[in-house]
Amino acid sequence: MRFSIVTAFPDFFHDFLRTSIVGRALRAGLFRVDVVDLRSFGKGAYRQVDDYAFGTGGMVLTPCPLEDALDFAGKGFVVYPSPQGVPLTQDIVETLFRQEHVVIVCGHYEGVDERFVEQAVDVEVSIGDCVLTGGEIPAMAIVDAVSRLIPGVVGKSEAVTKDSFYGGMLDYPHYTRPASWNGREVPEVLLSGDAAQIEEWRRSRAVARTLSRRPDLLSRCGLQGYLRGGFYLAVEVPFSAADTGRIREWADLCEGYGAVLLLFFPEGPEGGDRAEREKFREELESAGVKKPGKVKLLPSFEHLLRWVGEKEKKKGRPMLVDVSGGEPGQGGGARHWLDLKRFILEEGRPAVFCFRAGDGSKTGDGKNPDRYDVRMIPLQGGRLPLGGRIAAVLDRFLGSR
Ligand code: SAM
Repeated sequence: MRFSIVTAFPDFFHDFLRTSIVGRALRAGLFRVDVVDLRSFGKGAYRQVDDYAFGTGGMVLTPCPLEDALDFAGKGFVVYPSPQGVPLTQDIVETLFRQEHVVIVCGHYEGVDERFVEQAVDVEVSIGDCVLTGGEIPAMAIVDAVSRLIPGVVGKSEAVTKDSFYGGMLDYPHYTRPASWNGREVPEVLLSGDAAQIEEWRRSRAVARTLSRRPDLLSRCGLQGYLRGGFYLAVEVPFSAADTGRIREWADLCEGYGAVLLLFFPEGPEGGDRAEREKFREELESAGVKKPGKVKLLPSFEHLLRWVGEKEKKKGRPMLVDVSGGEPGQGGGARHWLDLKRFILEEGRPAVFCFRAGDGSKTGDGKNPDRYDVRMIPLQGGRLPLGGRIAAVLDRFLGSR
């Protein structure tokens, strides 16, 4: 990967490109940075690169030298650091990481001529709601953040994937020696040597920090990796309506998001007997649903509860979420999906999202609303078909960024 930085002040980059992790990675040839001196494309004896703004105002970088410098840098994805740009987030960093050549054009003074921005810039990026004197420090921030994603730049790749924002949430707090400092102790669990407990402590700290400091991140982060227990989708399928093609689709969706699909059949005549279920299992297998660990067929909701309870016995009683369709007005006390996401994280228990193929009247479920811990307000006003509801729930709760 290559960066070109167009700047009227190349000295800014002298130490940055020689120091610490970035310096080491550049020396190792893991990526390349070319600093393009805007003044060598300046006009006249003084190599002028700026001029007075039309109307009143300060100096503005003129478009001609910028255009020539850009031509010199070569074809690439052009970034203009600007307080008016989109905030620099890990999403933007990852987008830039996917480019072969990123050209960063540093503004200065009042900025750059707007016609140049319109003609040449692919994205304007801001490093915060404040105004700096120039785009050089933002350019360093961009190169630094993007280069960390290049394999080998940061020694342990795990250090990058566990950082804030990578998985969607904030990082957990870090401690080093001495274990006691100015009367402040390192949390005991970190000294215990118990890897599982340490992992659980880190997970819970990352969640607590994100919820208290940056609850806005919640809408875009997947819960996978932050849940203490598993994430299950339980779909009630009347035997008469069981369709192997659709079930295969649901199974593939669940697998893609790392969720477990549980299929259960309503009790009574609709539920079929053991032989029928066995036959259906064979049909599913021949339809390509072959992962019995990921798709579980259970004879009733009670069996399902027992099965999850057994699997998760150390993680607490599973939280049952009613994700039925229906009209938006239905179901007093139902929670918005984002509020529910927060609730699941706070509770830290395994979650079972329960879907019904129909309206529940056939299965008797309508008579049994109390079995759920919480009900979600139907997505899209309850207009989605079952497959759509399954996909939407998986993406909102387990999809990341
Ligand atoms: N007149 C501009 C405005 O109010 O939007 C501010 C210009 S600023 C003084 C000069 C240059 O610094 C900008 O062209 C831009 O390249 C850079 N800059 C300043 N603040 C920035 C920020 N928050 N994020 C990214 N770049 C910034």
